Amino acid sequence: MRPAPRLAVLLLLSLFAIAATAADTITAVKAKRLLDVNTGKWIEQPVVLIKGDRIDAVGSNLAVPAGATVIDLGGATLLPGLIDMHTHITGNPEDIGYSSIAISIGRETLYGARNAKTTLEAGFTTIRNLGAGNYTDVALRDAIDAGDVPGPRMQVSGPALGITGGHCDDTMHAPQYKIEDEGVADGNAAVMKKVREVIKYGASVIKICATGGVLSFRDDPQASQYTLEEMQTIVREAHRLGRKVAAHAHGGDGIKLAVEAGVDSIEHGSYIDEAGIQLMKARGTYLVPTSYLGDWLIENAERLKIPAPIVVKAKTVLPMARKNLAVAFRSGVLVAFGTDAAVYPHGLNAREFATYVKMGMAPLAAIQSATVNASRLLGWTDRVGSVEKGKFADMIAVKGDPLLDVSELERVQFVMKGGQVVKRVAP
Ligand SMILES: [Zn+2]
Repeated sequence: MRPAPRLAVLLLLSLFAIAATAADTITAVKAKRLLDVNTGKWIEQPVVLIKGDRIDAVGSNLAVPAGATVIDLGGATLLPGLIDMHTHITGNPEDIGYSSIAISIGRETLYGARNAKTTLEAGFTTIRNLGAGNYTDVALRDAIDAGDVPGPRMQVSGPALGITGGHCDDTMHAPQYKIEDEGVADGNAAVMKKVREVIKYGASVIKICATGGVLSFRDDPQASQYTLEEMQTIVREAHRLGRKVAAHAHGGDGIKLAVEAGVDSIEHGSYIDEAGIQLMKARGTYLVPTSYLGDWLIENAERLKIPAPIVVKAKTVLPMARKNLAVAFRSGVLVAFGTDAAVYPHGLNAREFATYVKMGMAPLAAIQSATVNASRLLGWTDRVGSVEKGKFADMIAVKGDPLLDVSELERVQFVMKGGQVVKRVAP
């Protein structure tokens, strides 16, 4: 048994050596220009020096240390990795309605692994997943963080909290099946317990349904669901336990109640009115519009055999949302980029940008919604959202100028996450 300690010491020393090499390795990424998303200014001929998984220095024409690995992106435009604040990474458009009941927990999780890779390769290096059954998003996040499967950094909610028969309950089945979604909780005591329960099983953010929705059978998107009191309880408990709260809300009254209760973001916001806009501005609540899905869903509803009650709602709510969101944009509500990907195919997330610009947002503001604003809403300004010293080396590159044509972001040529190249299209 004597040699064992020496062997252990040798092993330890060699592990230190490997760790030291990885941390000391410097990568230099060069391009034509880099967008400083904080100021909207270009950094010409940028050099980004990366040590380990973090950015060590950023500047024009910085000297590259001897021995550094150089990645020269030539004439490309460099930006921070994009952030999508509203995904359902383990879901698919083909599974809206009754087809979802044939999917096992295991299969759902594996769909998630596939979708996470697709999303990362589309340039989204961070996502916030708002709603997944059976904690499949928790499992996926943990697998990505462990390096087992590729994917974006994730904040995840697990099951969304909602009232009985609401948008976050399963309303497709006849009573004899006695089906209830796992996030259902009614009344103050039950919602407090449910917040604690989802945190127990791994939620890093709390998702609630404050109003009815589109992709559910019997609820009205304009009607509020949780009461003010229930939402105040949820917010108080979530914030006390260090979690933010995202509220699905279409109807104007539900939006106001949720904002008054202190939620951190309003998801969708389709019927947002002037009073809601003013309240959100006063409270600093973020709006996460999910706009592109309207185009895609209506175009593909027939092919996907989406149940008729859902199609009727989609055709009413989604075009109305465009008008109201445009007013909210003009009024200066804080916006964080979100897509609801799963309602349309993962990987098309960046199509959301063009819809914001069509509704009157400047391309720079649209890019900021998916970078600086999103990192603030995540509470992750120390790690993502801009290309700055100390943050994760999460970057993308596109060929042209996204401030002139924001749809450039739909054609990402290069993706790096934590200093590792995920994707590089040959020039
Ligand atoms: Zn959603």
